[in-house]
Amino acid sequence: MRRNRKVKILATLGPASSDPETIHSLFRAGADIFRINMSHASHDVMRTLVRTIRSVEAENDRPIGILVDLQGPKLRVGKFADGEVALTPGQAFTLDSDETPGDTTRVHLPHPEILKALEPGHTILLDDGRLRLTVTQVAKGQAVTEVVSGTRLSERKGVSLPDTTIGSGALTDKDRRDLDAALGEEIDWIALSFIQRPEDVAEARKIARGKVGILSKIEKPQAVARIDEIIELSDAIMVARGDLGVEMPIESVPGIQKQLIRSARNAGIPVVVATQMLESMISASVPTRAEVSDVATAVFEGADAIMLSAESATGDYPIAAVETMDRIAARVEQDKNYSQIIHAQRTAPESTGADAITAAARQIAETLNLAAIVCYTSSGSTGIRAARERPQVSIIALSPVRQTARRLALVWGLHCVVSKDARDVDDMVDRASHIAFDEGFAAPGERIIITAGVPFGTPGATNLLRIAFVGSDGLTGI
Ligand code: PGA
Ligand code: MN
Repeated sequence: MRRNRKVKILATLGPASSDPETIHSLFRAGADIFRINMSHASHDVMRTLVRTIRSVEAENDRPIGILVDLQGPKLRVGKFADGEVALTPGQAFTLDSDETPGDTTRVHLPHPEILKALEPGHTILLDDGRLRLTVTQVAKGQAVTEVVSGTRLSERKGVSLPDTTIGSGALTDKDRRDLDAALGEEIDWIALSFIQRPEDVAEARKIARGKVGILSKIEKPQAVARIDEIIELSDAIMVARGDLGVEMPIESVPGIQKQLIRSARNAGIPVVVATQMLESMISASVPTRAEVSDVATAVFEGADAIMLSAESATGDYPIAAVETMDRIAARVEQDKNYSQIIHAQRTAPESTGADAITAAARQIAETLNLAAIVCYTSSGSTGIRAARERPQVSIIALSPVRQTARRLALVWGLHCVVSKDARDVDDMVDRASHIAFDEGFAAPGERIIITAGVPFGTPGATNLLRIAFVGSDGLTGI
């Protein structure tokens, strides 16, 4: 089964989409990789979902990616004696370390490290930006603020600090427990929320020890400011527009989205565009024109994957949301301006054997109008480099490692197949032709181009490029 688009679809699972039939339908409708959100899922729920996805994978005989998203340091205010308070712009309001339920003058902020890091002039956003405070004075265990805008504040609401760099790492105790549990399951990616610095990524990398890919969610201005260093340490990034639009002026998000996609494409790591892509489909069976246009923008920009959050996790139309995304993406990629737009952002190959071969493979495939690029990739890195070229022809990534095939489910344009390493060049050609035919990419008599590393089975040594005919029976290559 092949998709008729290059961009991938990442669908979040939740109460509306946890049963095997729905997950099966989401996959058939176009979901290439699933997200399990640890802000909501218990360890038991996470394990059950992973097993269900793996059984859908086996049933369809296609690798499926699984991303486990850690909650990160999501900050919240404490409780109020009356559950909520009414504030007046201009008044003073104190955040402190006193656990007593709050009132209209103060509330507990159960994060001592934040009280330490706040400085006069810093902005504090509460409840997704509905309330804005400015810090006027700080003392030990408290920060006095002035209410700038907003009036109602109820307890346990989220706190965002666009100006404050927090002293602690990005992994909370809950994240460590969740990460441990996730690493015990057959998952492919871990997403890190609210990272601020490259060190936050390094910390998770150390724990994951290469078992899974690390995806850094870019949702804080501090992370945007150090994006190059963060990309260097990450296996993928996400343009997490939900929190980004709270922590930064909402009108700056589209420009940041473009900047992040370009930086990630340039570095050759996958980039996901996330949040509110088809938001109205949470409760309607068709999206708005503006949402269709938003999905299209991400596709035109060459994002690797587009994500559904509540649309597939809790909405009324999870399957229709995936189908809609699939249709928009497929149509955009057929648009007569698509190639030109996407190629305008292509960056030069780096001076490595793998990049030189990969760039040449794209050029030859396009010049000769070949049926597919077949790329042998053991660790996945050659597959990712092939995708970085954003070729017009399809890419089939063959890997002997099941985990590689699953991880690459996130990557633009890669149709992944688990296949043993070739024994010799003849076997390599036969195998590639057979799979290109079997998977519906090439007809007998058509030609494909193959990249591989000789000696076979040595990772990181792509050094061979071969054009081959798919034999008349589809089984042998010549
Ligand atoms: P979330 O992340 O859905 O976990 O908040 C994505 C975002 O903030 O856009
Ligand atoms: Mn977020």
